Amino acid sequence: MTETEAPKRYWIWTVGCQMNKVDSDRVADTLRARGYLPAVREEDADIIILNSCAVRESAERRVSGKLGNLVALREEKPELLLGLTGCSVSPDFEATRKRFKGADMYFQPTRIDQFLDQLNERWPSPTDAGVMACWEEQADATESKGPVAYVPISNGCDKFCTYCIVPYRRGRERSRPMMEIVDECGSLVKAGVKEVTLLGQRVNAYGRDFKNGTDLADLLVLVNNIPGLDRLRFLTSYPRDMSDKLIETIAGLDKVCEHIHLPVQAGNNVVLENMRRGYTREDYLELVARIRAAAPAIALSTDIIVGFPGETEEQFRDTLSLIEDVRFSTVYVAAYSPRAGTLSSRWPDDVPKEEKKERVQRLNAVQERISLSQHQELRGGEVDILVESTESERSDLPQWQGRTRQNRRVFLPRGDEDLMGRTVRVRVEKVSPWAMQAVPA
Ligand code: SF4
Repeated sequence: MTETEAPKRYWIWTVGCQMNKVDSDRVADTLRARGYLPAVREEDADIIILNSCAVRESAERRVSGKLGNLVALREEKPELLLGLTGCSVSPDFEATRKRFKGADMYFQPTRIDQFLDQLNERWPSPTDAGVMACWEEQADATESKGPVAYVPISNGCDKFCTYCIVPYRRGRERSRPMMEIVDECGSLVKAGVKEVTLLGQRVNAYGRDFKNGTDLADLLVLVNNIPGLDRLRFLTSYPRDMSDKLIETIAGLDKVCEHIHLPVQAGNNVVLENMRRGYTREDYLELVARIRAAAPAIALSTDIIVGFPGETEEQFRDTLSLIEDVRFSTVYVAAYSPRAGTLSSRWPDDVPKEEKKERVQRLNAVQERISLSQHQELRGGEVDILVESTESERSDLPQWQGRTRQNRRVFLPRGDEDLMGRTVRVRVEKVSPWAMQAVPA
């Protein structure tokens, strides 16, 4: 960039999990460090990065569709640079290029170096003073971060569940140094963040690669000590890695919220074995009992895949009965779709599409009943919520949106007072399976 040239504008489109959103933030940070500014509209951008998800077929279809639209946009605007990252990008770039045609750059989500190498080939890194001004402008913007932040603490996964693409795309587990994470959390809190969620594909295996006994419990203690932080969460936990030490630590720390996301995936032992999850239904139920004995207020949410290869009606009913037994606060259900390169993709995808759809609906119906009854128990009572956003779609009825420590969504009418980032006590008036409506207590 020369002194007279306008700064380049970027746009980042993200699908998938929270980790992807964090990765997109890092790409944005990298671009801002080069003096680029966010575009107000996609069509104004000089560079567009698609951050993809390969965990479900539907997500990959969205990525292909989006890339196709952007390739058409580039025909009108030939200088536009298109980059593809995320879990759809395998280490074999040629294979990725064949599946997702038309991007100018392909890079793996954990390899910002790959991104920079390709970017430098096209637009060498600027070093003029204007860049620093832009960067400072953006650095100031971090002060206005919302009250909730996500901090990656590990990346990759060593488990190789038979259906999962993550270990192939994000590689082996690598933990970030503990003090680096604590410092980042401290800076976020100084910038106004009240709630931090520590992220990892198998977050509760944090530190195992250090081989010195350090674990997530040790990290939680340090982050919990940060003055000014109100709430602490972590995501996603793998059932076999919930040690007694970790459970006791969670139960004993005041800022750690009463919510654990603990994917079970299926309630039948044959299906669990075929998924290579490494635990049985009985192991999982015993773990739930241990967690609830140590911390009775903890709400558990989970992920479930229905229609896994070979899953019979009877085996599916075991999953239904498991969700009745555990009474999760939220269940995220997905119909199985084979992901190329995984072990299960070599097996017949033999549960018909219609059957999978029906199982998703049946499971959701059971869970909606459970979630509704849990929310009904809270009706008329008082809960504390951290106000984290406003609901924008319903401008006729401006609302604050917050969450309880158990991660239940609550809406609150907006008055004159600015409640953003504050923990407020509210009285629950109306409930649905998905959220609660409250008034100030
Ligand atoms: S533990 Fe989770 S991220 Fe790792 S392979 Fe299994 S499903 Fe994928």
